[in-house]
Amino acid sequence: MVYTQVYYAWFLWSLHKDHHHKDHDSWFERNDAFFIFYAIVSMTCFYLWNYENIWFCLPIGVGIMAYGAAYFIVHDIFIHQRFKMFRNANNWYAKGVRRAHKIHHKHLGKEEGECFGMLVVPFKYFKK
Ligand SMILES: [Zn+2]
Ligand SMILES: [Zn+2]
Repeated sequence: MVYTQVYYAWFLWSLHKDHHHKDHDSWFERNDAFFIFYAIVSMTCFYLWNYENIWFCLPIGVGIMAYGAAYFIVHDIFIHQRFKMFRNANNWYAKGVRRAHKIHHKHLGKEEGECFGMLVVPFKYFKK
C-alpha cells in the first residue's frame, strides 16, 4: 500500500470506529460524518449541473444521494433501529440483511472486518 492509501484507511476507520464500540453517550456517531460528507459532494454535483451546465454531474449527484439514502434507511433505520420504523419486517430478505450485519459487528477491530454487502447480502447469510 502506498502512503496515501494507508492515510485514508486510517482516516475512514477513525470515523467508522465508534459505530463498532461507542466511547460516548451521544445519539450521534462519528460514523454519521459520512452522511455530511456525501451530502456535500452530491450537492456540489447538483450545483455544477444547474449552474455550470455540466450534464453528467446530475447522474453522479443522484447516484451519491441514492447511496446515502439507501445506507441510511437500511443500515441506520432498519438494522440499528435508530428510529421506530420497519421494526416488524420479518421476511427472508430482512432476516438475511440483519444476520449479515450482526457478523459485521462481531469484530471490534478493523483487521478482521467482514463484508456484509449492505443491500446485496452475501448468499451464505440467507441459509439457515
Ligand atoms: Zn452497523
Ligand atoms: Zn463496520
